[in-house]
Amino acid sequence: MMNPKSNLNADPQAGNRGRVLSDKSLDELRHSLAGTVIDPAAPEYDTARRGFNALINRRPAVIARCKNADDIAVAFDFTRAHNLEIAVRGGGHNPAGHYVCDGGLVIDLSLMRNVEVNPEARIARAQGGATWLDFDSATQAFGLVTPGGVVVSTGVVGLSLGGGIGHLTAQYGLTCDHIIGADVITPDGTLVHADADENADLLWGLRGGGGNFGVVTQVAFRLHPLQEVIGGRLLYRGAGVREALLRYRDVVERSPRDLSCQVSLALDESLVPILEINPCYTGPDANPETLRMLRSVPGLIQDEVRNLPFLDQQRVIDTAYGENRHYWKGHFVRELPDELLDELLRRLVALDRPPGGIMIESLHGAPKDADAPAGAAGFRHAAFNVSALAVWRDPSRDSEQIHWARETALAVEPWSFSGGGYINYMQADEPIERVRAAFGAETFDRLQKLKQRYDPHNILHRNQNIPPR
Ligand SMILES: Cc1cc2nc3c(=O)[nH]c(=O)nc-3n(C[C@H](O)[C@H](O)[C@H](O)COP(=O)(O)OP(=O)(O)OC[C@H]3O[C@@H](n4cnc5c(N)ncnc54)[C@H](O)[C@@H]3O)c2cc1C
Repeated sequence: MMNPKSNLNADPQAGNRGRVLSDKSLDELRHSLAGTVIDPAAPEYDTARRGFNALINRRPAVIARCKNADDIAVAFDFTRAHNLEIAVRGGGHNPAGHYVCDGGLVIDLSLMRNVEVNPEARIARAQGGATWLDFDSATQAFGLVTPGGVVVSTGVVGLSLGGGIGHLTAQYGLTCDHIIGADVITPDGTLVHADADENADLLWGLRGGGGNFGVVTQVAFRLHPLQEVIGGRLLYRGAGVREALLRYRDVVERSPRDLSCQVSLALDESLVPILEINPCYTGPDANPETLRMLRSVPGLIQDEVRNLPFLDQQRVIDTAYGENRHYWKGHFVRELPDELLDELLRRLVALDRPPGGIMIESLHGAPKDADAPAGAAGFRHAAFNVSALAVWRDPSRDSEQIHWARETALAVEPWSFSGGGYINYMQADEPIERVRAAFGAETFDRLQKLKQRYDPHNILHRNQNIPPR
């Protein structure tokens, strides 16, 4: 069991890196699984062990591509019998690389991506490995949505369990607020169902507490009718960037319920600041005042805001998969005063080269409506999420880039909402105090008791870990 003072995310079993399982053990696993087994000799091993973040380079002893709940229970049994560490892989986008471990077993859910929609009940049921593209394609066929992430290759369950901020946050709230039920295989192999009537405390923990309690085989979400939005991107460059940032802050601080909006601050190839605003408006107005205010700032160099089918809005933001090295660090903040925005602009200049930057997500509107005891997510009352995203290719720049992200987060800290960061964006080296602060002491305490019930030996520790009580 882990030492509660430390955070096991930081490569606890790095010594197992070269661990090799015998052919007999691998055959045993192959015969027990309906899915497939990928060992280090398999041609697809290198692709299967890699994920979004090229900084993560771990070599598991085996990857179990599970096909169903029974396979997941078999994989847990196998790790117990062979004393292997476990990682769970959904969409493989976690920046900390929680989807893979050295020398252990990866429960890979990429064969479990089915999404079923009940349009009358406005409910969608997604399997544990579905991506947002799988989900949005299935629900949009009926003109329905749940607020998800902004990059469609991200995993539905991984994102939802950590909270979920995206293009429809102001309108409908956090993704995890829409989870109404789930089937979970706990590390002892038991299938547990959670909904409002059965194991309601587990449902509460799944709404923001991360992948700490078991492997979710299926999750049910509430849906809303929506097909068209006004969205896309506005791009500002040079001297106008500061004014555009202030305008963005002023627009969303009025809490328009029909406008979600996030921004990315970066430098272009000539090292001139650029700002991309990604609005998503769903109200009745063809030319809403909020968008007119954003568009009227001098320095706007590109206006690609227009009527879009929701599926196209979900493709506005994209990013290379598996090519860049990433190190992200940030804070939820109480406010976004001019002083902080100026500090962010100064930090941007210190970054020196693209493609990294600073992302600001607004949490105005519907996240504030949810009944606090309904879910574990602890950040809904913050005003914004500010994240330094260091992104680079050359390994020789690792320490310089990581340093930049850490220093930028430090500069944001005086405005921090709780001292915690967003668990979905955290790296593996975050101290447990930051994870606790992300939830608040009372919620963290309750999550620890839940962890004690469902995973008392902390088998699932490759996540932003909640050690059992
Ligand atoms: C390009 C990119 C865009 C992103 N955009 C957004 C965004 O718009 N909004 C937002 O809120 N976040 C966003 N994120 C963060 C993302 O939500 C988290 O990194 C999340 O952990 C990714 O889930 P995944 O399944 O893709 O990742 P994985 O790395 O496969 O999984 C991460 C962890 O989630 C848990 N997990 C995943 N599936 C299951 C399951 N079925 N059962 C139990 N546990 C599971 C496990 O602990 C696993 O280790 C983004 C990340 C990236 C890289």
